[in-house]
Amino acid sequence: MKQWAEGVYLLGTFEFFQTGCWMLVNGKEAAIVEFPPYTPGFNESPADLTKKVTEELGLTIKYLLCTHTHHDHYSTRTMREFQNLFPDAEFYLQTGFKNEVRLPNKNVHFFDEQQVLFLEQEPLILEHAPKHSMTDTMIIFKGSVCTGDWELNTLISCHDDKPRYAVKKDVKIRSIEKMALFQSKYHYWIHTIYSAHANDFRKDIDFTALMQSTLSPSLPY
Ligand SMILES: [Zn+2]
Repeated sequence: MKQWAEGVYLLGTFEFFQTGCWMLVNGKEAAIVEFPPYTPGFNESPADLTKKVTEELGLTIKYLLCTHTHHDHYSTRTMREFQNLFPDAEFYLQTGFKNEVRLPNKNVHFFDEQQVLFLEQEPLILEHAPKHSMTDTMIIFKGSVCTGDWELNTLISCHDDKPRYAVKKDVKIRSIEKMALFQSKYHYWIHTIYSAHANDFRKDIDFTALMQSTLSPSLPY
């Protein structure tokens, strides 16, 4: 388990897409972000790995979260394993998950725009912000944001040419503008971002400026 930022740990990356499975921790309470697919015998199950770590550190998994419905982030098998190993943990998913994935059979809650949770008094904020996909959820904790699969510094998304997955331009712009206002609206300082695949990590950032540059219609290079 590798520390990425304060309270943010990467349990591992899995499969061909190298999707991260993340753990957010405050005190003795924790949340999991992403249920990546894995190959038994090749990768250790993310849920088994989490069980080991939580037992070792005496942590309680309170929430099970996911940035969007794409199959490299939400594997039904991995989700079920988390549910079996952590039967008291609560899933909080954006409403759009209802139509796109097989859902947990208990302890599941849905939100539309925003959900505020807490790990021992520390806010853990879920913001619906569709850009890469319609269920995109930014996960904000201790001043760090998991940006899921958002492409940053550009309005372009990798699924723009796929009608089934593409997010309309005006919807993207609304999401970016909403995130650009986040810091001033909630008096909350965001200093770090990391992508779900652990391939983009930026600290000491100006988050509002980053969002503004993400309105750019061209590629970032
Ligand atoms: Zn992905």
